[in-house]
Formats: sequence, structure tokens, C-alpha cells
Amino acid sequence: LNSRETLGFQTEVSKLLQLMIHSLYSNPEIFLRELVSNASDAADKLRFEALSDASLLADDPELGIWLEVDSEAGTITLRDNGIGMSRDEVVRNLGTIARSGTAEFLNNLSGDQKQDSQLIGQFGVGFYSAFVVADRVALTTRRAGLPADQGVRWESAGEGEFSVETVDVPQRGTSITLHLREASKEFADEWRLRGIIRKYAEHIALPVHLRQPAPAAAEGETQAAAEWEVVNQAKALWTRPRTEVKDDEYQAFYKHIAHDFDDPLAWSHNKVEGKLEYTSLLYVPGRAPFDLYQRDGARGLKLYVQRVFIRDDAEQFLPMYLRFIKGVVDSADLPLNVSRELLQSSDVIDSMKSALTKRALDMIARLADDTSEAGAQTYAKFHAAFGQVLKEGVAEDHANQGKVARLLRFASSTTGEGAPVVSLADYVGRLKEGQDTIYYLTADNYTTASQSPHLELFRRKGVEVLLLTDRIDEWMMSYLTEFDGKPFQHIGKGLVDLSKIAGDEADAAPEVSEAQSRQAEAVVQRLQAVLAERVKEVRTTSRLSESPTCLVLDAFDPGFQMRQLMEAAGQ
Ligand code: ADP
Ligand code: MG
Repeated sequence: LNSRETLGFQTEVSKLLQLMIHSLYSNPEIFLRELVSNASDAADKLRFEALSDASLLADDPELGIWLEVDSEAGTITLRDNGIGMSRDEVVRNLGTIARSGTAEFLNNLSGDQKQDSQLIGQFGVGFYSAFVVADRVALTTRRAGLPADQGVRWESAGEGEFSVETVDVPQRGTSITLHLREASKEFADEWRLRGIIRKYAEHIALPVHLRQPAPAAAEGETQAAAEWEVVNQAKALWTRPRTEVKDDEYQAFYKHIAHDFDDPLAWSHNKVEGKLEYTSLLYVPGRAPFDLYQRDGARGLKLYVQRVFIRDDAEQFLPMYLRFIKGVVDSADLPLNVSRELLQSSDVIDSMKSALTKRALDMIARLADDTSEAGAQTYAKFHAAFGQVLKEGVAEDHANQGKVARLLRFASSTTGEGAPVVSLADYVGRLKEGQDTIYYLTADNYTTASQSPHLELFRRKGVEVLLLTDRIDEWMMSYLTEFDGKPFQHIGKGLVDLSKIAGDEADAAPEVSEAQSRQAEAVVQRLQAVLAERVKEVRTTSRLSESPTCLVLDAFDPGFQMRQLMEAAGQ
């Protein structure tokens, strides 16, 4: 199968390509970030494989990226001596999108270019972004360990199909040539490229060599050879002291590891020394990835051991409910040949996990504590994206339950709006005299909750009630029994006694005459007879002032949301 063949892109790729070309025209230089990012990943993978087979590196041990321009031909060539690809890998990696949920993601696109270009960033643009600036892309590659005659040439105009053929490639690694579109010829310029590299590749641990054009020869002199110049620091960002790393470098590094288009909301960079030695750099993304709720969605930290890349998806360093956190952890204690099994059961991992969990929660708490207007907006954005996932932590992480609960925000009966802005600490700070309980109500949505008859008594007394409307809330509340020493009570369950809470005299329940009680008793008995099959008990109440009746659950009954969930599950 050495012959040349022409293959069609997987439908998803074609769709993505179209979308990308249209979405990224305002930010075309992204292609360089993506290609450099891939070259850096390829170097990481090679170093990793060389741990068990040193010969892979031996003949060409200085890993790097070489970037070269031919302004006459209008091409850019980017070469790396990383892991490279076999023919099969080329077809798979550059002809399909293997990520689960891709089709679903594409179906969710609106067709509105502005909105969709936001989404495409969330998906990660990757290699195909080359077609934003190029109308033809040619790639030659050879996988480390394969002989020279097992090289591969891949070529495509980005329009539905690509060709592959087996060719001789003298060096290990990948070389990509972009034939620039007329409108993108500006990129065939060393100065321009140097600027982009400085912006997007400063944090890459790999040197980026840029070929300088040879100075024009003066009369009578021989033409000098072109020279290669390294244009970045080529030092792993997390190994540099915090004070020396600029914000935009942290942001660029985030985009590299998270495949995100937008800036992160926060980061936390720490070097830990002592019994355990490691460096961590954690980020809070600005929005949820499309696969946040998919069982096999991408998660985990990028794990390095003594600066050698080990894996992309080390899930063992953070609990599930913090799966949206991105970052790097570089350990000095783990062995280079650390296995999955070791990751799963090791004291080192356990203590790193609990420390990293605290760091992540503290980083989020700092966001939450910024009460400036901009800070509040940022936190609202964070909470809209990840509040639901954090709620899993209330159940999952008993040790940090209080810390997680502190980060949650709810709607409340007193704010007059559906936006979740009230923290449990806010609520506790506003307790009425004599109130020692945090009252809440669950419902399908804010409108239903805020119109609930159960609120009447609370409104009369001026007592705040949290309105919980996420599907996960009832389940979460079955784990959350107290906050700051104050118990929770669902106001639609069991008996509610507000008599100890100071309220206005005028608002007290009206006196009931003996005649009224007798009348009421007769109504209760008739209702009891009619509803005998459907309710446990009918009783009079002082909790209502406007609505004639309401439904109350027993204190330990599952709530309405839970019932729906249980019924849906066939119980
Ligand atoms: P991602 O980097 O998110 O996996 P890309 O679209 O950027 O997605 O790249 C797709 C795949 O192609 C990569 O996962 C990798 O396997 C392969 N690839 C791309 N560029 C290179 C390269 N320079 N060397 C080796 N493999 C590469
Ligand atoms: Mg990539």
C-alpha cells in the first residue's frame, strides 16, 4: 500500500473546515499557534517514548522547531523533529476527528457565524486552522523508529479530500508547508512571523528557530548563507519564577494546553518543596467545554515528571467535580515510568490530590471574593458555566464540603430576580433575630418557586428563603445538612415553626374564633374523605394568607424533583 491514494475527509472534518475558515478570518494568525503547539506536543511524545527506547532520540537529540519563509513562492514551512506520524496515523489524525461528541457538537451549531465562531474556539481549532491562511497544505512526516522509506506525504486543498503517499523522508519528525492564500501573503514575512511567535510561543519549552534571509550581497562579495535564529525563551513556563512570567504568557500557555480560544478567568502557580516536591499551574477556564457532562469527556491535568511529559489526562490529581480545571503538574517524586496503576494508588498522588484540590478551591474562592463590579460579573460567568458541576462536590467531597458550599450561589425570595447571586454566607449574615435555620425551597424553575404558596408566611415575617431550581439541587441538599453551624430546612416539608423569629406585630397571624375553627374542621373532614387515597393528611395551617391550600411533604419524603428523577429511572 505504498501507492498514492486520495481519500475523503470525514464529514465532520469538512464541516469543521468550512466553519473554521469563516470564523477565524478576523484572527488568522492563530494557525501558527496551533502548529507550534502540535510540534511541541510531538516533542513531548517523543521524549516520553524515548524513556523506554533511548535509540529513538539518539541520532537527532536536540528537539526543536524550524520555521522558514519563501516570500517569492508565498509559502511558510514549519518543521519539527518530534514523534512524527506513520501512514495510518496521518490518515486518522488528519482526516478524521476522533473526539467523541464531535457530531453532536456540530449539530448544535446555529449557522450564525458570530455565535459559531465562539463555539469553534471551545472545540479547539487545531491543525485544520492552517487552511484559514493556506489554500494548499503539504505535510511530510516520518514516525520515530520507522525507516526512511516509511515516510508519508499528505496534501490537501482543504476541500473535501486529501491525498497520502508513502515517500522517503530522511529525518524523523514532521514538516508542514503552507501555500498561502492571496489574502494571507502578509504572513510570508520573517518580521511578521517573529512577532507572532513572540506572542504565541514564548511559553513553549522547545526552541523555535526562524530562518533569517541572507543579507543582500554587496558587489564583489559572495552571498552569505542564511542564518537560523532562536526567537523564544524555550523554557517550560511553569519552571520559571512567578514574578518573571507575564500575564499574557500565562494566558498564552493556557490556550496551548487547554486548546481554548479565550483567556482563562484565573490561574494559580505554585512550587511546593519539602516532603513532596512538585510544581503546579492550575487554570479556571472561562466557559464549559462541550464535553463537560460526557462520561468520556476530556479531563485531567497535564502530568510531567521532572519536566518530561508523561500524559495529558492525569485524572488522579483532582476530584471529578473539579474536572473543568486545566493545568500542569510537574512532580519530582514520581518515577519517570509511572504507570496508570501507580497513579491510581499511591500516597504521593493522594497527598498531591488533596493539596491541589485545596489550591483549586482557593483559586475559585478568590474569584468569588472579588466584589468589584467586574469581579462580580466574572464570578457570575464562572458560576453559570461550572456552578452545577461544583454542586456535585457537595456530595462527593465531604472533607471540603463547607468550602464548596461557600462557592455556590442561589436565587432568593428577597432579591426579586432569578439570577443566582446569594451565597450561603450572605444568607447567614442576614438571619433574622431568633432565626437559626437556613430555609430553602426547590422547584423546577424560578417562576414556580417565587410564586409558591409556601413563601407566604415567610414573606409576612420578612424571612429570606433560598430558591433552588437546578435539577441537581434536591440531590445535593440531601448531602448538605448544615452551613456555618446552621441547619437547612426545606419549607415545603414537615412543620415549619417561625414563632421564635422576631416579626412585625401587625404581620402576626390573625386570631381565629371558635366558630371559624369548627367550620374549618368540617371542611377538613370532607377534604380528607374525598382525598383519602391521594394524601396522607389534611390539616389547617397558619402558613398561608393568600392561597387557600398548599401541598406539604413529610420531613423525610423525597422532594418533587427527586420523585421525578426516580420515576424517570423506573422506581
Ligand atoms: P490536537 O492537537 O488537539 O490533538 P490537532 O488538530 O492540532 O488536534 O492535531 C491532530 C492530531 O494530529 C494530533 O493529535 C497529533 O496526533 C497529530 N499531529 C498534528 N501535528 C503533528 C506533528 N507536528 N507531529 C506529530 N503529530 C502531529
Ligand atoms: Mg493541536
